[in-house]
Amino acid sequence: MMKRLLFCIVFLVLHLQIQAQTTLSYEQARQAVLLAEEELMTGGHTYLNSQEAKVDDIFMEYKLGELSQGFRNAEQNAAALHFFKAKPLIDRSGVFRFLQKMPKGAVLHLHNTASVSSKWVVDDLSYMPGLLRCTTATGRSVLTFRRTPKEHKCQSDYVRVSDERRNSLDRRIYDQNFERLINLYTPVPELEFPTITQVWDRFQDMFDIIGDALTYLPAFRAYHWQMLEELYNDNVMYAEIRTSCKTLYDASGRTFSRERTIRELYSLNEKFVKLHPDFLGIKIIVAVYRGYEMDQLRETVEEFRHLHHALPHFVVGFDLVGQEDKGKPLYALLSALRDLPPTARLFLHGGETNWFGASTDINLLDALLLNTTRIGHGYALAKHPILLNAVKSRQIAVEVSPISNQVLHLVWDLRNHPGAQYLSLDVPIVICSDDPGFWNAKGLSYDFYYAIMSLAPNNAGLRILKTLVWNSVKFSTLTEEEKTRAFQILELTWSRFIDKVLEGSVF
Ligand SMILES: [Zn+2]
Repeated sequence: MMKRLLFCIVFLVLHLQIQAQTTLSYEQARQAVLLAEEELMTGGHTYLNSQEAKVDDIFMEYKLGELSQGFRNAEQNAAALHFFKAKPLIDRSGVFRFLQKMPKGAVLHLHNTASVSSKWVVDDLSYMPGLLRCTTATGRSVLTFRRTPKEHKCQSDYVRVSDERRNSLDRRIYDQNFERLINLYTPVPELEFPTITQVWDRFQDMFDIIGDALTYLPAFRAYHWQMLEELYNDNVMYAEIRTSCKTLYDASGRTFSRERTIRELYSLNEKFVKLHPDFLGIKIIVAVYRGYEMDQLRETVEEFRHLHHALPHFVVGFDLVGQEDKGKPLYALLSALRDLPPTARLFLHGGETNWFGASTDINLLDALLLNTTRIGHGYALAKHPILLNAVKSRQIAVEVSPISNQVLHLVWDLRNHPGAQYLSLDVPIVICSDDPGFWNAKGLSYDFYYAIMSLAPNNAGLRILKTLVWNSVKFSTLTEEEKTRAFQILELTWSRFIDKVLEGSVF
């Protein structure tokens, strides 16, 4: 299909060259090609009604204003800057205000333990009675509500966070330092994280710093409730959450099965949806460490089978996580992955790399041969034309997470992100946030900011935004019945949003 379209374009250009000398003017030939590219792009055929067209005009005024300001002054060009430097500019941006209020549909790639803003973790979780901290031999902190030094690999004594805070010279500074444990933010990422290894090491550490605290039952409940709140408040209506589904413990030291973890998420979700009927809730993708030995992986596949069997419409699929460049390639894990129950789907991270022709980008090939439902990141996909073609013809959505790819060192200026090519070729993509809490973001709006300001062309507005939002529901694993309801709700919230923009209450 894509090949045919590309062929048509080449034909058009050649044809126009000939025509330009005969019947078509130079201007007409230029316009024809620009128009053809616009139509080929994601959203090229999305219809806007008259109200939406007016909103598009308003939006474009803001977008073009901010882009031309950035064009004049590179230091103010948020679209090209690292998120850590751009965030204050984005927070003041009209485009961002618009995106925050815009219904964004679903987020389909989000890891639970890095989903909540670090500010909440500091302001709420770190004040929960009983929180302890210890330090490993490598100097990494561990936050927990239980004393199991062997499991935590702790070399120091446990100290109460409340005591540390009380004894500190300045509680505000204590909290700032605490936040740094679970937030990669630095004003100089180029100096603090000069290589991909340095940033990935800190990033992976953060999961180990907070992981055990989040499996304390009261903390688990509070954290995931907050995750739902932050999604809902950012006008996200549904999420597919990747989780390693660790076992929980309570204050008496009791531990519970993984099924209990899933049932806790299930009941939190039920409760939240009841309170917010326009929120469709979450579904779960079990995501396990890609560095596991085959025996461990087989074990987790068995556990997944059990969880999927218990709640098949809630625990929908399986994935592998961890730095792809360092983990085992999918090809080495085939026998375990082929053992998954036939009703379960795969949502494989693939091609989250700058390498070309290495095992990491070849993961994309195995992900497709394994019939993955979507691809996590797919950053290297642009380098593989046959795979890109397959993704497009089989309509396998690529979960594009712009800020994640930038912070985790694949690209600095997001205008160079391959997502721009995916949009220009109408490869199915959905915009995702991956681990927003770990890099000073919140919700999905910041990633949408880069999607429309950096990945999309300057003149792209509401048509592309609307398509991305609708895509997120289309490519979700909601059942047909749930999708029908999701689209009904989306139509309603979208038209309310359009009215609000026209009333002037968004900008
Ligand atoms: Zn991910």
